[in-house]
Amino acid sequence: MKILTVSDKVDELIYSPALKRLGDGVDLILGCGDLPAYYLEFIVTMLGGPLFYVIGNHANAVRERHRPYSKWEYPGGCENIDGHVVRYKNLLIAGLEGSMRYNNNPYYQYTEREMARKVWGLVPGLLMNKLLYGRYLDILITHAPPQGVHDKSDRCHQGFRAFVRFMERFRPRYLIHGHVHIYNPNEITETQYRDTTVINTYGYRMLEIDEDTLL
Ligand SMILES: [Zn+2]
Repeated sequence: MKILTVSDKVDELIYSPALKRLGDGVDLILGCGDLPAYYLEFIVTMLGGPLFYVIGNHANAVRERHRPYSKWEYPGGCENIDGHVVRYKNLLIAGLEGSMRYNNNPYYQYTEREMARKVWGLVPGLLMNKLLYGRYLDILITHAPPQGVHDKSDRCHQGFRAFVRFMERFRPRYLIHGHVHIYNPNEITETQYRDTTVINTYGYRMLEIDEDTLL
């Protein structure tokens, strides 16, 4: 299964007619936050769905463009999977939005304790997966990174310990996040942590998963 993952940056190549060719054969799109609604809608229109996403800390990105004080507007044709466990074809996916709390903006920022509580909310779905499919999860999409993996020392870009615990306990094959911008091409964007490959998808990435190995 071919998966396109995106976050944080409107990529000129993706936001262009070239996407038709570039995204040929893509079965699924995953959005890891801080992207405007029009961009996700463009992608899902060009490639077809499904497109599962979580919202980043820059929540105004999901408000409709040109009307910054309007009510919340979410990208049409896309599915917000924050706090949900979903299944597409044989793939088990869950999402956790937002970043570490760093100011008093009320939206899409969480303390470590609040994020741990959000993880707890996923547990019934994960246990059901284990029962039905023999594994808890294949892909966790988040906006923020796990603590100590691709994260930074400033409060805003610190990773969550709750995600590290999640990987230790539920062993997803992938944790895909955004939030940490890449300015230097030598920066590490892929790290193995136990059974999980952690990927910073800043911009966009193509991921190929052999469905036969999902057991
Ligand atoms: Zn962010």
